[in-house]
Amino acid sequence: MENFEKRLDDYAKLIVEVGVNVQKGQPVEIRIAADQYVLAEKLTKAAYEAGASSVRVDFNHQPLSLLHNQYKTVEKLAEVSAEDKARLEYSVENLPAMIAITSADPDGLKGMDMAKQQKASAIRYPIIKPYIDKMESKYQWVIAGAASPAWAKKVFPDLPADEALAALWDAIFKTSRMEAGTDPVKNWEKHNASFKAHMDWLNEQHFDYLHYKSAQGTDFKAWLNPKVKWLGGGENLHGGPERFGHEVFYNPNMPTEEIFTTPMKAKAEGTVYSTKPLSYMGQLIENFSITFKEGKAVEWQAESGAEVLDKMITMDENAAYIGELALVPDSSPISQSGILFYNTLYDENASCHIALGAGFPDLYEDYEKYSREELEKLGVNDSMIHVDFMIGSDELDIDGYTQDGKCVPIFRKGEWAFEV
Ligand code: ZN
Repeated sequence: MENFEKRLDDYAKLIVEVGVNVQKGQPVEIRIAADQYVLAEKLTKAAYEAGASSVRVDFNHQPLSLLHNQYKTVEKLAEVSAEDKARLEYSVENLPAMIAITSADPDGLKGMDMAKQQKASAIRYPIIKPYIDKMESKYQWVIAGAASPAWAKKVFPDLPADEALAALWDAIFKTSRMEAGTDPVKNWEKHNASFKAHMDWLNEQHFDYLHYKSAQGTDFKAWLNPKVKWLGGGENLHGGPERFGHEVFYNPNMPTEEIFTTPMKAKAEGTVYSTKPLSYMGQLIENFSITFKEGKAVEWQAESGAEVLDKMITMDENAAYIGELALVPDSSPISQSGILFYNTLYDENASCHIALGAGFPDLYEDYEKYSREELEKLGVNDSMIHVDFMIGSDELDIDGYTQDGKCVPIFRKGEWAFEV
């Protein structure tokens, strides 16, 4: 157990110093499940040691969310009280660093009245939106995972409870680049240097389209707007130097493995085959393929979960179009773990993937200046859904075609094919 204590200490420090990068004199807020009080204590200690002026911990508990949903009226669920508003104003003024820990039971909200919840959010959202807008990209934040017994049982159903919990913690540490005997801070420095080198290279190419091919049957082309950027890894806080006197580099997701972009909506052709199961709306979709014509999914099949796949692709008018292309080497820790986590933070980083649904406007320079129609013209899809599914494996090759028709290898057998 001593070893586990030490790893948890290291993990808390990594989240505070490398993840959210708490600055001297800055307040910190932590959102975490009540049963993760040990990690909450370690995060709080690490935050104070990094110079936090105050640390506020907001504990949550899935059964309480269920009770509120059951007994509150929609109006009460939607209510933004005077106390809530005062807190939001405090956040706007003081811009705390935000740490969110995900550990929930993937099935823990079964039985919740989702329609009631959605009605409440629809009323609540416009009231808190002005506060969110004022804080947008002005503070550091991070999402990281913590193992809970219910989540562990879902991921490792065949193991006894204590072994499942230990196995999930181990997977969380490893995928967060905390392999035993290595310096996690150094690992993340290297990881981010690699992100930057690959991103810079991709951004210099201004590819016209990418061509995916695998022995499994994937043969798929997706076109890019030459102005769109590739993005991945950590980032510098906007206004960091003005506020703190120096750049503040932080990592919003721990783990993170993907370098991603947003393709042109009506320009994709061919068929992709899934390489990992997709967990969607509490159900598994396995061994499926989707064929695209003029950007739109026109044909699909699945060995299991076909009805859920139907529902997903037909969710709204644009759910059948692609919003994201992401590159993840097969050698990355999540891919190598072979684990289905039933948690987006991990599963979206499992291998090369594409997403059906909404694209990312912020991958265009000065995106705030564009109207929705102008973004649509650039090729950015807009949909209610954004669902990643994995198409990467050690058999995947990807070529990029430049504006003048030159073919440049990007991936060979699931790994980067160019030197940086
Ligand atoms: Zn992604």
